[in-house]
Amino acid sequence: MMINRRQIALGFAGLAAAPALAQAGFAPRAAIAPLDARPGRLMRISVCLRPFRAAGPRIAAERLAGRLVIHHYGHGGSGWSLGWGSAAAAVPLALQAGAKAVAVVGAGAIGLTTAITAQRMGLAVTIYAQDRFPDVRSARATGTWTPHSRIAMDGAVDAGFAARWEAMARRSWAVHQAYLGRAGTPVAFMDRYMLSDAPPQRRPKDAVPLPGGGTDTFVNYEERIADISPRSETLGPGAHPFAVAHARRGSMMTFNVAQLAATLEQEFLAAGGRFVPITLASPADFARIPERVIFNCTGYGARALMRDDSIIPVRGQIGWLPPQPELTYGLYYRDINMVPRPDGIVVQDVGASEAVGFNDADEAPDPAAAAAAVAVIAGLYRA
Ligand SMILES: Cc1cc2nc3c(=O)[nH]c(=O)nc-3n(C[C@H](O)[C@H](O)[C@H](O)COP(=O)(O)OP(=O)(O)OC[C@H]3O[C@@H](n4cnc5c(N)ncnc54)[C@H](O)[C@@H]3O)c2cc1C
Repeated sequence: MMINRRQIALGFAGLAAAPALAQAGFAPRAAIAPLDARPGRLMRISVCLRPFRAAGPRIAAERLAGRLVIHHYGHGGSGWSLGWGSAAAAVPLALQAGAKAVAVVGAGAIGLTTAITAQRMGLAVTIYAQDRFPDVRSARATGTWTPHSRIAMDGAVDAGFAARWEAMARRSWAVHQAYLGRAGTPVAFMDRYMLSDAPPQRRPKDAVPLPGGGTDTFVNYEERIADISPRSETLGPGAHPFAVAHARRGSMMTFNVAQLAATLEQEFLAAGGRFVPITLASPADFARIPERVIFNCTGYGARALMRDDSIIPVRGQIGWLPPQPELTYGLYYRDINMVPRPDGIVVQDVGASEAVGFNDADEAPDPAAAAAAVAVIAGLYRA
């Protein structure tokens, strides 16, 4: 059965489930509109490389080309989530050096949050960058709260990393909430359905083959912040409209990346910030920047700029469907993640294993894989 306009107008079969939900003690939902996942509706395919470091993000100061360069890169699959908390750890390094005016190289998620955090701490800030939104890699992110996504590896982190990560995550969670309810809805919460044919299981920790040989596993510190994350609930048969045996519903924080980037750029400019286009070819090029203290927020670009092989690309692809304002929930089914955003609907195959995309620097889109991911979700609405 294909989805038609009338169904979209009326809402999905979930309408009929509202009384059952209420009886079961769950908050009823007014309507669960279907995703229009008919073939041929993909409007673009984006590919992005997560700037992953096994030891976690690099936050360290170094004297280079007559400047104090504070490296702030390598946030893996968590840059949007952790930016504020990570900046709160990096910016004090400039204050300790007595800086009054600083440069930030990079205008992605990390560059913008670092620049605004520095402004809030009283510093004058100029951002130097090769690209700005929408041409930065951060523009191609899913846009959800994922502070534990591919952030480090168990065998490579130091003893204090878990506590530092927790502090970053808690700080970020708090700052993101200051963007809820703002014009254009840069940050929002929405329902998320976790759907499965078999009883849900925790994703296993996969052994990931390392470029230099051997294997390691990604850290997962989710439990450390369980107290701040909204709880999910199991939905019984009839309490949801999806043709699956198992369903849970949670609440997820989403970043409307196009609007969030615009909001942050405006905030930076309103506080006296300036953007200057620049491309740095090597560390010696930091001398081209007049400020004596420089934050290096170049993300995956740091691999070439700093000749830093500790940055490992983790490829991720998203197929984008046209926005459907009536779609007010996300879902996860058979390794496919669907997140409706005002700037497009994310359909992303996250892969059966955490090793998928690891050490893969291919940024060419794979249209067949994107269409296959949409077809999986389309199947949910056919029963
Ligand atoms: C498919 C996918 C989905 C993701 N989803 C999420 C998500 O839902 N939530 C989440 O928290 N994270 C997510 N991430 C991770 C997140 O996108 C990254 O962690 C984040 O984008 C990194 O931001 P950044 O500012 O460090 O890098 P970038 O966005 O790459 O910005 C780097 C900046 O530095 C500049 N630059 C680089 N090199 C130079 C140079 N030599 N000279 C001058 N300027 C330079 C660039 O022009 C750019 O302005 C996802 C990643 C992928 C691949």
